[in-house]
Amino acid sequence: MMLPLSIYGDPVLRKHGEEIAEITPELVQLAQDMLETMDANYGCGLAAHQVGRPIRMFVIRNYKVTPEGRIEYTNPQVYINPKLSNHTKATQTNVEGCLSIPGVRVSVERPLGVVVEATNLAGERFTEDLTHDAYKAQMILHENDHINGILMVDRTDTKTRNKIEPALRSLKKKRK
Ligand code: ZN
Repeated sequence: MMLPLSIYGDPVLRKHGEEIAEITPELVQLAQDMLETMDANYGCGLAAHQVGRPIRMFVIRNYKVTPEGRIEYTNPQVYINPKLSNHTKATQTNVEGCLSIPGVRVSVERPLGVVVEATNLAGERFTEDLTHDAYKAQMILHENDHINGILMVDRTDTKTRNKIEPALRSLKKKRK
């Protein structure tokens, strides 16, 4: 089932996500609904906060690089109770978008790589070394911010922030 998106200004987006104690059938259903919602909105990642649930889970769509150097999306992946570590000192700066902040794209500086440990829907703990996978590291860092109540617009410089402020204000207003 497709779920309604929480849009900028919704207080749920600012909540610190709760640790998930148990993988229940309801949680599995939520993950499936989140994947459906992500795909329907042409997103490559979605956190539970963005569908109104402040818990520590996000989904992403995986990808492969074609021989021509294009990125093609493949199977999706679910991360429950993720723990990030070994953030590289080297950074990358890329333009990001967010399904909860429609129409706004900003440059965000993030670590170039990171190690992520999480639980999948089968309840297995797994580790991914994304020290040399800048693209996936960027997605994971963006989604992990969501479950800590942080948004990409918090990570921009003052000048950019001032520029997008009117757009953010109108998103907030539209919510009411
Ligand atoms: Zn987002």
